Amino acid sequence: MNIIEELKNLNVGEVLENVDIRKYTTYRVGGKATALVYPDDEYNLIELIKFLKNKNIKYKIIGRGSNLIFVGELYDGVLIKLDKFDKLEIRENEIIVGSGYQLIKLATRLSRMGYTGIEFATGIPGSVGGAVYMNAGAYKSDMGYIVKCVKVLTPKLKIKELTNYDLNFHYRSSFIQEHTGYICLEVTLILKKGNPDEIMQLIEDRKKRLELWNKINEYGNGYISFKRLNYQLNKYLKLPRIVKNKMPIKLAFDAVSKKYSKYGIKKEDCLIEWMEFRIFLVYLRQFFEYWIMFEKEDDSGDHNITLDEFKKAFPQMKNWGIEISGIGAEKEFQYIDKNNSGIISFEEFCSYAINKSLNLEEDDGFDDEELKNLK
Ligand SMILES: Cc1cc2nc3c(=O)[nH]c(=O)nc-3n(C[C@H](O)[C@H](O)[C@H](O)COP(=O)(O)OP(=O)(O)OC[C@H]3O[C@@H](n4cnc5c(N)ncnc54)[C@H](O)[C@@H]3O)c2cc1C
Repeated sequence: MNIIEELKNLNVGEVLENVDIRKYTTYRVGGKATALVYPDDEYNLIELIKFLKNKNIKYKIIGRGSNLIFVGELYDGVLIKLDKFDKLEIRENEIIVGSGYQLIKLATRLSRMGYTGIEFATGIPGSVGGAVYMNAGAYKSDMGYIVKCVKVLTPKLKIKELTNYDLNFHYRSSFIQEHTGYICLEVTLILKKGNPDEIMQLIEDRKKRLELWNKINEYGNGYISFKRLNYQLNKYLKLPRIVKNKMPIKLAFDAVSKKYSKYGIKKEDCLIEWMEFRIFLVYLRQFFEYWIMFEKEDDSGDHNITLDEFKKAFPQMKNWGIEISGIGAEKEFQYIDKNNSGIISFEEFCSYAINKSLNLEEDDGFDDEELKNLK
């Protein structure tokens, strides 16, 4: 009897022979594997592994294959896929999920239900088991923040519970990854309840932001200079009013890339990375608002505000949250004009606006269409 027949006779679950590994990995590389088995449950998984150990046949657990590359033409062993371990039980704040459950599906489903804490996983391919194995994460969060405990199969084929502490989660690593032979069977998560609409909106915003970043960071090297960013934003964001003048982009860029100059890197070489991109967009939105205010005061359109223009803008400024009397105008003007040049530059106006928390009103010609990507 050959090995495939023996596996089939074991009756532990579906057995496929001579499988094309490419079909089971995201990167679509790899040759053939002798067999692939989908055990029906924990009991059958134990029986399967006992059999393979007795026969000295090598085996490998695979999740969704999003972090796996098989080299060589043949994997002379058995791949074990835990797709049937797909239970999902929701008990208030505790969620018990099988290791074969798809992570994106789980994260999206729970987020839609109003659970918060797992939003980070809505863009991570893979299974729950694979995510625990390597402590998958994104947006400054990871599985370690939400896993309460994990049911595992030990190398001695005993079922055991490991707590979050035992799992020793660190950046992209866990106890399971560090200890060969442990198999993640089932995971208990602890999540809080939030507002489903807000959570879904957050997920949508992140998705759009990542799409925009992937477009502007076209070479995929993970960082971008001001010159390139400015060019790319003009290309991909429909912001005609910003395009006319680079100042809002420049100030937003400087606000987030300052730390590079602190490390002695020349200002023109400053860069921003994906992690800073969200905060850059927040700043850009803010400086864009100030730019619209500035334009409203700058009657002549020469990108400077004179005392006369400033006085004329008083009624308007009340809407933005500041009330100045005619008598106080000159004093206020001098206060804003930090370098005493007799005119207010956009940078001086921004310092003032930040200091006084100026805010645009909706009916102030503030076009939301232009801003919808700045999130
Ligand atoms: C486009 C893309 C984007 C990605 N983005 C991110 C990201 O933002 N953040 C991030 O952290 N990762 C990311 N990854 C990597 C990958 O998605 C994660 O590592 C994922 O958690 C792997 O899960 P999997 O089920 O695909 O594991 P697999 O690739 O199938 O396996 C990976 C390892 O885990 C082991 N394993 C799988 N299941 C179990 C189990 N039940 N018990 C024990 N061991 C097991 C396997 O033996 C193998 O050694 C990305 C990958 C791709 C392709």
